[in-house]
Amino acid sequence: ERLVIAIDGPSGSGKSSTARGVAKKLGLAYLDTGAMYRAATRLVLDSGVDTGDADAVAALIEAADIASTLEPSDPAIAINGTDVTEAIREPAVSAAVSSVATNLAVRANLIARQRAIIGGTRKGIVAEGRDITTVVAPEAPVRVLLVADPAARVARRQAELGEKATSAEVTDQVIRRDRDDSTVAAFTEAADGVVVVDSTHLSLPEVIDVIVGLARR
Ligand code: C5P
Repeated sequence: ERLVIAIDGPSGSGKSSTARGVAKKLGLAYLDTGAMYRAATRLVLDSGVDTGDADAVAALIEAADIASTLEPSDPAIAINGTDVTEAIREPAVSAAVSSVATNLAVRANLIARQRAIIGGTRKGIVAEGRDITTVVAPEAPVRVLLVADPAARVARRQAELGEKATSAEVTDQVIRRDRDDSTVAAFTEAADGVVVVDSTHLSLPEVIDVIVGLARR
């Protein structure tokens, strides 16, 4: 039987590590929708299209080929044949991604692609992002909103970035992206039927077990 697990959460909530861990444990595919918005943003930045030109940005992304591996052990993404797995994590992409993600034509295009990917998996998939539980896959039998206190999210981002950023910079980034993203949808409020999992005081294996437990119920 196919199983779709939808996980939403803000940046630093641990949703990528969690979603990958759940997918590995259950033998499911894995889709990082944030990586798709980031890859689209990378393309916009590299192509020289003005990020403020909504129509040009949408046209560029609609015409692009976006390929995700769907492999939880080794997630990779390419846009127009170029692997951008590393390049989508650069600060320039993080800073510009909210402006691309608030473009409604871009969202419509990426949401359609995400639904096709989710529907096309044989065994099922764990899909993570900001609007998976509400818009992309509201019919998923397991829907989770992963939350954590801002201080815990800043600490996790800091651990990911290591020496590359000061804690003041990371705090700033997490808070700014919360604010920029808050215009897209009610990312921090769980819709009806969505289970809120607070990871502030849980380890990664504990959070994974909670979600695997929901899936086995
Ligand atoms: O998950 P991650 O932090 O990599 O997502 C990057 C950005 O992509 C988010 O800050 C948000 O602007 C956008 N996004 C979105 N909808 C999703 C996933 C990500 O708008 N489903």
